[in-house]
Amino acid sequence: MDDQKQGVIILGSTGSIGKSSLSVIKNNPHLFRVDGLSCLNSIETLAQQIREFSPRIVCTGSGQSHKLREMLGEEFSNLQILEGRDGYKKLASFNDSSKLVAAMVGAAGIEPVMAGIRAGKAIALANKESLVLAGSLLLQEAKKHEAVILPIDSEHNAVFQSLYGEKKKHLEYITLTASGGPFRTRDPDDFDTITLAEALNHPNWSMGKKITIDSATMMNKCLEIIEARWLFDIEPARIRVLIHPQSIVHSMVTFKDASTICQMGDPDMRTPIANCLGFPRRIKSGSEFLDLAAMGTLTFENPDLNKFPTIQMAYDVLALGGGTPAALNGANEVLVDMFLREKIRFVSIFKLLKKIVKRVQNLHTSGDITNYPFLRRTNTIEDALLADQWGRDYIENCIESTTL
Ligand code: MG
Repeated sequence: MDDQKQGVIILGSTGSIGKSSLSVIKNNPHLFRVDGLSCLNSIETLAQQIREFSPRIVCTGSGQSHKLREMLGEEFSNLQILEGRDGYKKLASFNDSSKLVAAMVGAAGIEPVMAGIRAGKAIALANKESLVLAGSLLLQEAKKHEAVILPIDSEHNAVFQSLYGEKKKHLEYITLTASGGPFRTRDPDDFDTITLAEALNHPNWSMGKKITIDSATMMNKCLEIIEARWLFDIEPARIRVLIHPQSIVHSMVTFKDASTICQMGDPDMRTPIANCLGFPRRIKSGSEFLDLAAMGTLTFENPDLNKFPTIQMAYDVLALGGGTPAALNGANEVLVDMFLREKIRFVSIFKLLKKIVKRVQNLHTSGDITNYPFLRRTNTIEDALLADQWGRDYIENCIESTTL
């Protein structure tokens, strides 16, 4: 083992962020070694990555490790292969590695992220759902275990870079930029006709399917407001959203003196990944350098909150507090999955997300919220997972009882 290099674990290495992380590591072979990799189902891609990067430990989804072992053959008989929930947690806390890239998709990321935090790792966090589910808890634990959380999400990474070296008391507000997705200019009366292929066609970013649909509904921005609230410990009222269709300004911060600082770059996730992997150093990302003259014009506009009601939902669920953001996120994961399988229409996502927010508001008004302690407070990861499950069940029941 080369002690000069930092050991890195990548959870979700076969996804879009995972692959970009490996590409940044390949650009900096003198700085990093890959200790661990994981996937959910893409074991063929994982096998290729194992052959290329020779990790010491890997993890697959439940019931997949045998297949992977067979695929790899004798040559890799020393490789430790784990599987399932406990496997991911063990991988995330692997002793010899100092950095953890958390790039798995969805609420399932929360347990391994917590395990990495408790093991005191520097966490390069791309899994925004873990912050949405239990941001307050994760940040508390990170403080306790001296684990650093570095945001990979491009907007939060831009905020992180813009705030670096500044005093928090000087911050006035944060502005998260948003491309507006593929339906920014589409007539809302025409949302009925949106197809899956159209929703999967993001104008600027090439990303995984889940986040691409979230960008089309702007649920992604909703989750990012919640993420920013915890990452930067800032009141929701001081988080703004600005549409910027070119995705060059990745977000900005405004200080008391009315100075606004931003971070810019081509829309390429390797830049924020390199920032997190190299931090506090600047390392080669492999991204193109920005050519603003070629770009010519950058434009900005306010978001249309009627057309994209998901943005307001961030403020609503944060005000409701406790497990409400987790419930909304769980509901959204079910809806996106159903939309990807063409079981529901695009507009149904908005309709049902509104419904779940209304439901929690009603529980508060009627006092029935006392029957759902996990919606009122998130004291443990289990509370967050209960709220997530409640959101999933609620939506599944709604779908069963409605014709969409
Ligand atoms: Mg983002």
